[in-house]
Amino acid sequence: MEKEALEKTSVTLLGLGAMGGALARAWLTAGHRLTVWNRTPARTASVVAEGGRAADSAAEAVAANTLVVVCLLDDASVGEALADADLTGRDLVNLTTSTPAQARARAEWARERGARYLDGGIMAVPPMIGVPGSGGYVFYSGSGELFERYRETLAVPAGTTYVGEDPGFAALHDVALLSAMYGMFAGAAHAFALIRKEDIDPTAFAPLLADWLVAMAPAVHQTADQLRSGDYTKGVVSNLAMQVAGTPTFLDTAEQQGVSPELLTPYFALMRRRLTEGSGDEDLTGVIDLLRR
Ligand code: NDP
Repeated sequence: MEKEALEKTSVTLLGLGAMGGALARAWLTAGHRLTVWNRTPARTASVVAEGGRAADSAAEAVAANTLVVVCLLDDASVGEALADADLTGRDLVNLTTSTPAQARARAEWARERGARYLDGGIMAVPPMIGVPGSGGYVFYSGSGELFERYRETLAVPAGTTYVGEDPGFAALHDVALLSAMYGMFAGAAHAFALIRKEDIDPTAFAPLLADWLVAMAPAVHQTADQLRSGDYTKGVVSNLAMQVAGTPTFLDTAEQQGVSPELLTPYFALMRRRLTEGSGDEDLTGVIDLLRR
């Protein structure tokens, strides 16, 4: 075990919140030497009990290993935590959720301090970390060289998907997927609201809803093809004119069920706007162009 630990990359991890704690356990279980720091020191106790080492300060933790992984609340906390640390020669992997602009600025900030930088966007919740086959993964962007060097170590807590040298791309992919998720949750909320006052068991309705969302999800491939070709009429099955004509049915049904249409109306308004521009034979893809500012 001791020999195995020596062969594996030693990791410094800053932040032992719900996510950081899960990352720590995954690396320890896989036999990596781990040095941790957390603003509230009491949180390091369980990591130490499992064989990790707790540093007294972030600077001390950073000094312990070349690979420094950061998983703190937000971008501001990263700046605060690392304010007094010497990052010269360090390989900084920042798994803290941020915006693309914050990630790019943080990469530049790291470069000015002599560190190499890889940004990460975690597509998982803590129980998925360190569980092979859980489906959880992390988007990485920034130094491709760094990603290759630590590929194996980074793959211990979750799958890895590298999306490019631009340090903002991991955050952008992360936020884009989560934004789509909120759209899906919004649609599901409206659907449940429609059936709520009826004698329909939500637990019988849920599998129908889930199956339908899964069946519809591959439509994004056609959207992507149309965006790439610029031809939004390519392969259209249900054109915009027909879909806009159907919207009163949705709004009237909401009215009849005593449900606010507020989650649907913004999207319907965009569909109608696109239709008035003369795009009735297109798919819904043109809405994307209306959203761009
Ligand atoms: P928690 O709220 O559980 O933990 C936050 C961590 O940040 C704690 O270690 C906390 O320290 C530390 N912290 C907060 N402010 C500061 C500061 N000013 N200086 C130093 N340390 C600070 O969050 P999570 O662990 O869940 O999340 C960590 C990151 O992972 C976030 O960016 C989050 O968006 C991302 N993430 C989380 C997911 C989840 O489901 N939990 C899913 C995907 C991404 P202290 O213990 O002292 O409070």
